[in-house]
Amino acid sequence: MVINTGMKSISKKYTLLLLAFLFVFCSAYKCKEKPLEEKSKPCLERAQFGNPEDSEYILPFPAGKKYVCSQSYCNPNGGHSNQLAYDFALQISDTVIAARSGIVKSIREDQPDRVGEITASNHNFIMIEHSDGTVAFYAHLKQNSVFVTIDEKVEQGQIIALSGNSGNTMNFPHLHFGVYEFWPATETYDVPVNFRNAEGPMDSNGGLIADEWYEAKCY
Ligand SMILES: [Zn+2]
Repeated sequence: MVINTGMKSISKKYTLLLLAFLFVFCSAYKCKEKPLEEKSKPCLERAQFGNPEDSEYILPFPAGKKYVCSQSYCNPNGGHSNQLAYDFALQISDTVIAARSGIVKSIREDQPDRVGEITASNHNFIMIEHSDGTVAFYAHLKQNSVFVTIDEKVEQGQIIALSGNSGNTMNFPHLHFGVYEFWPATETYDVPVNFRNAEGPMDSNGGLIADEWYEAKCY
C-alpha cells in the first residue's frame, strides 16, 4: 500500500513534469494555430487581395504623396518572382510611415546607401507585428534614419523612417513593402495586402500594378 502510494506519487510527479516540459516546449515554438499559406502554391494563386476598401493597410508614405509602383507582386522578371510584395519609387530621404499599427519587432539601420558601383550592402529595415500576428517589412531604408525602437508601439500613419537605397536595390532607391504571416518573419509565409487609401488602378486580383502611379489619400 505504501509502495503503491509512492509509485502513484512518483507517476503523478513525472506526469506534471512532462506537462510542464510540453508547455515550455510549445511556448518556445509558438504552438498556436496557424493557417499557413506556404509557398507551395504558385505566387499568382496566393495573390488574392480582396477589396481595397476593406484593407487594414494604408500606403506606406504620407497622404498627398504619389509614387510609382516600380515593382509589383509575383514579378517573373524581378526580385518579387515569388513574393506578394511591392516596391514604391521613393527617393533617398523621403518619408516612410507605418501602413498599420503594431509593435516594432526588429530594425536595422547601419548599412550605407548604394552609391554608383559599390557592392550591395545588406538592407536597412523595420519589421512591425500587427494585432493579428502578421508582420510588415519595410526595406532599403536610409542609413541611421529609423525613428522607432524595438518593442515600441507605433500607430498607423506614424513616421517610422526615411527611405533609402540600402541593400539589393539594383541601385534604384525605393521602398520595399511586404507582409508576412507571423513572427519570426520569413518570406516563406507571406500574405496578400492592398491599401484602402491608394488612388490608382488595381488589377483583377485587387493588387497594385507595376509602373502605375499611386496617390495616398487621406484615410
Ligand atoms: Zn522589393
